[in-house]
Amino acid sequence: MTATATLSSPTKLVDEFMSDLRKKDPHELEFHQAVHEVIESLAPYLMAHPQYMKAKILERMTEPERVIQFRVPWADDRGNIHVNRGFRVEMNSAIGPYKGGLRFHPSVNLSILKFLAFEQTFKNSLTNLPMGAGKGGSDFDPKGKSDAEVMRFCQSFMTELSHHIGPYTDVPAGDIGVGGREIGFLFGQYKRLRNEFTGTLTGKGTDWGGSLIRPEATGYGAVYFVQHMLTEMGKEIKGLTFAVSGFGNVAWGVISKINELGGKVVTISGPDGYIYDPDGIKGEKVDYLLELRGTNNDIVEPYAEEFDTQFFARRKPWEQNVNIAMPCATENELNDDDAKTLIKNGCFLVAEVSNMGCTADAAELLTKEITYAPGKAVNAGGVAVSGLEMSQNSMRYNWTREEVNQRLHIIMREIHETCKIHGRNGSKINYVKGANIGGFLKVANSMMAQGLV
Ligand code: GLU
Repeated sequence: MTATATLSSPTKLVDEFMSDLRKKDPHELEFHQAVHEVIESLAPYLMAHPQYMKAKILERMTEPERVIQFRVPWADDRGNIHVNRGFRVEMNSAIGPYKGGLRFHPSVNLSILKFLAFEQTFKNSLTNLPMGAGKGGSDFDPKGKSDAEVMRFCQSFMTELSHHIGPYTDVPAGDIGVGGREIGFLFGQYKRLRNEFTGTLTGKGTDWGGSLIRPEATGYGAVYFVQHMLTEMGKEIKGLTFAVSGFGNVAWGVISKINELGGKVVTISGPDGYIYDPDGIKGEKVDYLLELRGTNNDIVEPYAEEFDTQFFARRKPWEQNVNIAMPCATENELNDDDAKTLIKNGCFLVAEVSNMGCTADAAELLTKEITYAPGKAVNAGGVAVSGLEMSQNSMRYNWTREEVNQRLHIIMREIHETCKIHGRNGSKINYVKGANIGGFLKVANSMMAQGLV
């Protein structure tokens, strides 16, 4: 940023910073979006605390400490050779080893991974666990691939990644397209190459170092966070109706916990469209989600045939009348028009579970008109339990389900508290501001303490 001392207003600070950032990497639109949201809520705070600007903390936070890009060659079951691109963005190590998931999806590129790694910086800080921030992945599409193909891909990917990670350096985990099966293949190859059994990956199977509750953690944590949001409003989950998108691991955790607490989820979705089930997605229907995911086809329509419900092809669940919406699929899945429709239909709370699930316009509108909380606060339960997995691995000990769940509860309550402290706005809480300032401070102060590195 130029001449920080002369900046006279937060708006000017945001404009100048963003213009410099856009000039550096003009094609990285998702990264710009994520940074813009943070800078916008931080600007007034930074103007009042010029030490961070003087130390160029923002400039340093938006420049990854290291970006690794590599070739991933692999052979399919017919012997045809394919070449994918692998990445690891090591974003920030001020408060712990780089930590964050791996995403396998055709949309993966550097902009997507930089946005995710940037968000991870704030999210991991909010958990209060000693985890820095990273994100990685590949443009590999697991859809329609055999187990043997996925294994060969994972082994090839890890052969290069293994040079850059370790329990004190960088601890990857899952994300979209990387679940228990992929973590198993990645871990197996890492262990073989290094001849070491360490907690270098999280999301491992519970027989070989994984933490109980990790598969459920993102979803459960998100619902615990929503409970705290509702308590602020004098409400509870019981009796409320929810729209959920996605049908993967995160949506499954959210739905299970909402059912347990007496709420009703009426939608799930896939890239092919959405299901509307007015009786609620409960009981055997929740188990069916696991079956659906196992098919590797990434479509949700078979649910409608199985349970005789409505399927809306190529539409989004946000057009249904619900009290609460929880996007659980992917970035920018809920836009301005969707936000207007939700508000018009009486929705009073949107808790984003996917990373940057709402477009910038949607997030702004929802914050103004109703109550909205961003993914970096709502979905932090996933990485938090990864942090607890790291602790258990270091101790060579396993906590019980109850112990992990209790810690997850406490972490989500404290994240909500942090949002309240930094986001209080009259009688309302601005969760975007609260999460951004709360997440920023710990990392920024650590960077200041560690000198110019
Ligand atoms: N990919 C998840 C996230 O977005 C989890 C990361 C982890 O467990 O390290 O936070």
